[in-house]
Amino acid sequence: MLKTHNAADVDRNLLGQSVTLAGWVDRRRDHGNLIFIDLRDVSGIIQLAINPEIKPDAHQIGSVLRNEFVIQVTGKVSLRPEGTQNPKLPTGDIEVIAEEIKILSKAKTPPFYINDEVEVDENIRLRYRYLDLRRQRMKRNIVTRHKVIRYMRGFLDSQGFVEVDTPILIKSTPEGARDYLVPSRIHPGKFYALPQSPQQMKQLLMVAGVEKYYQIAKCFRDEDTRADRQPEFTQLDIEMSFVEEEDVMNLVEELFSGIVASIRPDVDIVAPFTRLAYAEAMERFGSDKPDLRYGLEIKDVTDILSGTDFGIFKNVISAGGRIRAIVAPGCGNYSRRELEELQGIARSTGAGGVVTISLDKPGVSSDELVMEDVHSIAAKYLQIGQIKQLVEILGAVGGDLLLLAAGDDDVTSAALDKLRREMAHRLKLVNDNIFHFCFITDFPLFYRDVEHNRWDSMHHPFTSPREEDKPLLADNPGGAHGRHYDLVLNGYEIAGGSIRIHEADLQRTVFQLLAYTNEQIDERFGHMLEAFSYGAPPHGGIAAGIDRFVMLLCEEASIREVIPFPKNQNAQDLTFGAPDFVTDEQLEELHIIINDKEIT
Ligand code: ASP
Repeated sequence: MLKTHNAADVDRNLLGQSVTLAGWVDRRRDHGNLIFIDLRDVSGIIQLAINPEIKPDAHQIGSVLRNEFVIQVTGKVSLRPEGTQNPKLPTGDIEVIAEEIKILSKAKTPPFYINDEVEVDENIRLRYRYLDLRRQRMKRNIVTRHKVIRYMRGFLDSQGFVEVDTPILIKSTPEGARDYLVPSRIHPGKFYALPQSPQQMKQLLMVAGVEKYYQIAKCFRDEDTRADRQPEFTQLDIEMSFVEEEDVMNLVEELFSGIVASIRPDVDIVAPFTRLAYAEAMERFGSDKPDLRYGLEIKDVTDILSGTDFGIFKNVISAGGRIRAIVAPGCGNYSRRELEELQGIARSTGAGGVVTISLDKPGVSSDELVMEDVHSIAAKYLQIGQIKQLVEILGAVGGDLLLLAAGDDDVTSAALDKLRREMAHRLKLVNDNIFHFCFITDFPLFYRDVEHNRWDSMHHPFTSPREEDKPLLADNPGGAHGRHYDLVLNGYEIAGGSIRIHEADLQRTVFQLLAYTNEQIDERFGHMLEAFSYGAPPHGGIAAGIDRFVMLLCEEASIREVIPFPKNQNAQDLTFGAPDFVTDEQLEELHIIINDKEIT
């Protein structure tokens, strides 16, 4: 190799020895006579000292070096002179006195300084991703990702799982998103779809008798990009035969606790993982991916307010809706502007707003409350008795702020979920040193797609209904529960799976409920129904989003930070410039005519 050591391996044990290092010039400081170079490689940074009195040749090269030049240097490991140590660097008391320097590659001035502390516009970072990835933080993220995947492989291998890779050019396998399509040259007018997940293939592997499958799988979903979504992402995909919900959940609990313990020994894992039924999660937290690191639970206060003359509440209650509330401790002194901000947050979820009740006097218990201490647009319609009951049910005291949302459950859940997260953040209730995992179970099998006036799968169409709910498919499909479970971590959904349907008849019934005609079912999913007719084992599985999980392990706010070459928020790859136009010749071969009008 062109080097004998990595930068970070140069330590006191090597004092007096000659080493050869290679890497990038992170920083160069010219002290007229002495030149100092911070040399960066994959492991970290070490200081080089170049003294013209020792090696004039090396000094001459040292004086032309610029940031990001790639160099090879040979020199002696020495202690830095007293008073020049850098306690911020692991190698901060050591330097290498350069004797020979070779420039391996020159560099233009980079578009941004390669340093973790410098904020750079994300699109510029993505355009020059190979420079961005030179930063220590980004390197650490890539290595963490590697360690997570390595742990997954090792663990699943030890449990008897077999990694099987499945094709990328397939037929649509629905997960509720739009497909990415690939035109066929050989079959004019026909398209492959990229897998939204390997769902159908892993089920076919169960029919094939593989019994324990996993894959680090790429999935493709043509959705609008958000901070924690990408057009293509990576899943740990798992499927097992002869299992029930508990088997899959227990396996996942052991795997994820093991990963966190090995990669983030500094955090506390809440064990065993919490289990919450979907309905309870929605009732208490307004979300099927609740952050359980803090309380601020939602309470139903409809009964307390029934009979009120306050218009908003009255109308909602008479229309069959509910009033639900959370308490923001110590926020009773919120200014008009702060309350307005909370209104904005509630409205951004589609709610009409939130009714705020500010309790003035800090520390006053519900018994001692008087109406003068209560401020709210609803105050003149409320009696002190009602306020006291609200305060009691919410566990509030004087000095707190009550936030009440009125409407259908969908509306109040969305608003209070967002307000709950906002208040936890403002009140610094979110403890970054806790990993609180939670399985959400007992999901409804279907939800009503109001826009298209039909049922849609809560998970995907291959999820089995609960045994006892099968009769409901005939006359009350909305009442049926699926054998579906999600894994949530600190407010993020990081895995989802289910026990599957393995009987052709039941699978057809479910497709019919999803408003597919029999012809469509045969055409799109005939292969699955046929496979089930040749002896399918009961089976189930799960898939975990690796990007999102690694994001949480790395304490990053976006999955783009843990994906080596992500798309930007416009679904573009800025390093390669994808998507891009292709030649007329290519289009012709693919039998495609572009509608020029759509090109901007
Ligand atoms: N295929 C599902 C998904 O991608 C996971 C599963 O059901 O195993 O969400």
